[in-house]
Amino acid sequence: MPDLLLSPFRFEVTPSLGHACCGGWITPVLAVDDPLYCHGFVLTGCDSPIVVCAVDWTGLFNEAHLAWRVALAEAAGTTPDRVAVQCVHQHNAPLACLDAARIVAEQGDLPRGVDLEFFNECLDRAGASVTQSVRRARPVTHIASGRAQVEKFASNRRVHRDEEGFVIATRNSRETSESMRELPEGLIDPWLKTVAFYDGDLKIAACHYYATHPMSYYGDGRVSSDTVGLARKRRQEDEPDCAHIYFTGCAGNIAAGKYNDGSPERRPILSDRIYDGMVRAERELRPEPISEVSWSTTGVIPKVNDALFRADLEETIRSKTASVMDRCRSSYMLSWRRRIEQKIPLGLSFLRINGIGMLHLPAECFVEYQLRAQKMARTQFLATAAYGDGGPWYIPVKEEYGKGGYELTVAFCDPEVDDLITRGMRELLHPMQER
Ligand SMILES: [Zn+2]
Repeated sequence: MPDLLLSPFRFEVTPSLGHACCGGWITPVLAVDDPLYCHGFVLTGCDSPIVVCAVDWTGLFNEAHLAWRVALAEAAGTTPDRVAVQCVHQHNAPLACLDAARIVAEQGDLPRGVDLEFFNECLDRAGASVTQSVRRARPVTHIASGRAQVEKFASNRRVHRDEEGFVIATRNSRETSESMRELPEGLIDPWLKTVAFYDGDLKIAACHYYATHPMSYYGDGRVSSDTVGLARKRRQEDEPDCAHIYFTGCAGNIAAGKYNDGSPERRPILSDRIYDGMVRAERELRPEPISEVSWSTTGVIPKVNDALFRADLEETIRSKTASVMDRCRSSYMLSWRRRIEQKIPLGLSFLRINGIGMLHLPAECFVEYQLRAQKMARTQFLATAAYGDGGPWYIPVKEEYGKGGYELTVAFCDPEVDDLITRGMRELLHPMQER
């Protein structure tokens, strides 16, 4: 194995007061409870450098996602196809779609989803941070994996159904109805997984993965890295010399709802459960020498969801009688349609080191995708991060189309996306089955 180097990096991406949260749906920034960061690493020594990072934002869509990959690639001396940018998906946080921002700006009376100056400033910080970190690169010789079940956090949002399986009501991330909280957890992936990198016997980076919407409460304009970010920060304080990075898995239909009434006291309790999962997963770490590194990518071009795209989007955006929410949502839909018309694929990527896999998926994939991916990897260790390019919003599995629930009202791809992503995952994970 050639000499590998790892450069962890971190930079702040907290928006300033007045900036939109979650793309303009909710109260803009009024205060900052705790700052937002992008955490990642550059891995060099295996062809061109590989960059993987997690951003404390709600989402990076279409062109905005590409802009991040380009900026990080330039700084690391690699190509954008070797960069994975995944969002953690907090909601009192920025969401960026540059095309939607332009569409909205033309109207003059709609809230701006993202401030371009701030967006570009974050890209500058990304470049500077990566350049600096590469100068301080450390040898990486060993890798390890561990996992632990998180107690009482993830729960499925789509458990309240009628006899035909139709979703009567979605269980929210903050669920005030006791009867909704009493329903079973439903399908989740209970495992928090950790992949750690070592320089000799020194742990230099630990990547944690868990599938849930991270929110305890939101909409009050108070920026926070929320449950999972606070757990990561605490773990970082425990071990200042190891970069702790947190990725949100396939959490499209997963949130804390069953265990979260949204009261402020729940945030530290839920955060402790993630922290506890990280600590227990790390107890399993048994470093082994790195013998093999590979990076592979694939792309899919799904069709738009005809059921949603029947309306005249331009007309809705212009309409002064339509709600701000409908007009904004239409701007995101129009951006997605334009991007699909331009045949710009949605990327999937896969980093494999020895028998440990790290899969990067786009948008708000349902949890079924990561469970399916783990099956494809058989007994090998697989960690999945979703919330890459968020352009298509929710990505349900095909069986869920026509079954109602909030997610299906903002699922911009037609059901065939399931086959495309599944095929893409199979292609990437194929080497895991050979081992
Ligand atoms: Zn979401």
